[in-house]
Amino acid sequence: MTQDAADVDVTGPVGSDGRRPVFSRIVLKLSGEALVGSEAYGIDMETLRRIAQQIQRVVERGVQIAIVVGGGNIVRGTDISRHGIERVTGDYMGMLATVINALSLRDAIERLGMQCRVQSAIAMQQVAEPFIPLRTIRHLEKGRVVILAGGHGSPFFTTDTTAALRAAEIGAEVLLKATQVDGIYTADPIRDPTATRFAHLSYLEVLTRGLTVMDNTALTLCMDNKMPIIVFDLHAEGNLERVILGEPVGTRVDSEVTK
Ligand code: UDP
Repeated sequence: MTQDAADVDVTGPVGSDGRRPVFSRIVLKLSGEALVGSEAYGIDMETLRRIAQQIQRVVERGVQIAIVVGGGNIVRGTDISRHGIERVTGDYMGMLATVINALSLRDAIERLGMQCRVQSAIAMQQVAEPFIPLRTIRHLEKGRVVILAGGHGSPFFTTDTTAALRAAEIGAEVLLKATQVDGIYTADPIRDPTATRFAHLSYLEVLTRGLTVMDNTALTLCMDNKMPIIVFDLHAEGNLERVILGEPVGTRVDSEVTK
């Protein structure tokens, strides 16, 4: 089965083009890598601007959006621990890296005239609000974009797991996982030109086929909470809007067995 608007609650307002979003509240997982753009490291301003524009198109359609941002463009705990830094310290460094990304993304979003709040799982009151789910929901209801930073505040986890957790906590209808390719493939499409894209997979199929969508903790959390995941390419212009309008973009992962 593919992403089918008829299967989803029709809750969003109708846009000026007569189209109605199929989701009213979403969590977007953005990896740190997504911010690097043409740079070798760190944050590319033009990429940030383009991502903010995609977010704006969704906000303008009345969809509530919370973003969980990664930190892999700056520090990953596992990588840095191979260079001699203790793993737990490395993980906290990684969580702090997500805050740097969150602040830069907030800046790009606010430059386009949207309201945006950063909430962090690690207390840093001068920089970000604490993550309080009811407050997140309140911001979303007021039309603000919320960026959730600091992972979920514990080492040995990833921001994918954080995104799965937060999506369930704030009652999102879907977790959108932005990647560099347009969905989940049978093999790495960059290395293998014969690789084909799945339009749909069940959680169990992802696990048994050993497909790398997100880590297993994140995937299992989505499975337990029946949280659908859509894996898609955010860099393709207008793709985020296509997803929320129910177009068959990327790969959808949910509990249904693929027909
Ligand atoms: N991290 C962590 N706990 C969390 C989330 C993140 O320890 O709940 C650390 C971990 O070291 C991770 C780094 O923060 O490698 C950056 O997050 P992630 O690798 O998920 O970022 P992404 O790959 O999405 O850019």
